[in-house]
Amino acid sequence: MFKGKSVVAVFIFFVSFTLFNCAGENVAIESTLYEDLVSLNNEFDIFQQPETSSGVPDYSAAAMEEKYRELKTYQNRLKAIDPGSWSVPNQVDYHLVRAEMNGYEFQHRVLRPWLIDPGFYNVVIRRYGRVGNLPLDGDALAGLRERLQSVSAILEQATVNLNSFSDISGDLGTLAVLSLGDTRASLEALSGRLAGHHPGLAPDVERALAAIDDYIGWIEANKSKMTARAGVGKENYNWLLKNVYLFPYTWEDIRTIVELEDNRVRTFQKLEENRNRNVPAIKPVQSQEEYKASVSNAIDHIMDFIRDEEIFTIDDFLTPDDYFGSWHGFDNPWPEKHDYFFNFSHREPVMEESHEMVGHHFDGLRSRNDDRPVRGGRRPYKIGTARHEGFAFALEEQAILTAGMLMAERSPMSRLRSERSGHYQTSTCTARTGVTLMQRNSASTTRRMENCLKAVTICGLN
Ligand SMILES: [Zn+2]
Repeated sequence: MFKGKSVVAVFIFFVSFTLFNCAGENVAIESTLYEDLVSLNNEFDIFQQPETSSGVPDYSAAAMEEKYRELKTYQNRLKAIDPGSWSVPNQVDYHLVRAEMNGYEFQHRVLRPWLIDPGFYNVVIRRYGRVGNLPLDGDALAGLRERLQSVSAILEQATVNLNSFSDISGDLGTLAVLSLGDTRASLEALSGRLAGHHPGLAPDVERALAAIDDYIGWIEANKSKMTARAGVGKENYNWLLKNVYLFPYTWEDIRTIVELEDNRVRTFQKLEENRNRNVPAIKPVQSQEEYKASVSNAIDHIMDFIRDEEIFTIDDFLTPDDYFGSWHGFDNPWPEKHDYFFNFSHREPVMEESHEMVGHHFDGLRSRNDDRPVRGGRRPYKIGTARHEGFAFALEEQAILTAGMLMAERSPMSRLRSERSGHYQTSTCTARTGVTLMQRNSASTTRRMENCLKAVTICGLN
């Protein structure tokens, strides 16, 4: 049974905190309660999802304009919450919600990818081929079937929404074709896996693949008419850095920082080369067995080092248990050609494992074990990317060189490898800060550039 006070509370809950004044404008109710931020955040999470019918999201201009209008209501509600008296962690949550609303605003006000980026529709479908262990049970199977059957409608919608070619950049078209190739490959791989368990899905996979081919053909056929510039420009980018990434730096500041870092790392590299001029070069590993053993040894070394030197608190869940081999390709045949990073990891894997395991893997574990209502949730619009990558790159150098991880029993040439790896990062950063503002017709077709452009926004320190 409700008591008087509870009835009022329930009533207020149902009117939410948005009321309308006589002029029909939104008037948000002021609050100093952290719980109001949590419920606003939960509602905003749902609001950001597009309206969907039979697995097909509606990205039409009209539907998106409606969403953009509604965003103001959420932003007003946030502004009406005063976090001034809260604890610092709760105030951080407030700013995360603010950043997320700004990220959504940037999508609508500046990027509008559903109208001008052919790769946007690939982002919608790119994970459809990623399926866990087979066979699937009833709900999971029905979900996969719906996703596969929605591909052709989603890509048909793309060709309707992307109707103003002079607003579209041909570079984004080129990048879209590359990304669609990856999605296609993952659906083909799924097709092979499904054959033994769910052969009934074969026609759905075939239709999805055909739809991707048609869409690639449509992009290629129209690319010459896609004449816009791809970059968002400095002013927009600086707004994004400040209001979505919550960065204290402008694009110009970042370029200066990266150039200074690049100069410093080059100098260190030359000094290390000179110091080790009489030390024999490290021989790279020559087989998966050797590579596996060297990675295993590096991980043990890193974990011992962090524990013995008490570099940071190691929560019980921070272990390499699910990490070893997760991306290394140990089970694949030894490739004839390796990508650039293997120049380092095949000689000294400590830098890469510091980045990938201590950086990204441990970050992922911390996030998965974080059940706080705002902080533990998903973080869209690359809000966390700069922190994740900045931290991982910092680990490569600071933990290793400055804290002394490579000083002890490992080869002195490893330190040189680390500087070379650092130099690679600073020089690609320099390139990437430029790419964010890139001019028409200057797209590189490398996947790293693609990642940079896809976000249009990945910061220079990524
Ligand atoms: Zn990384």
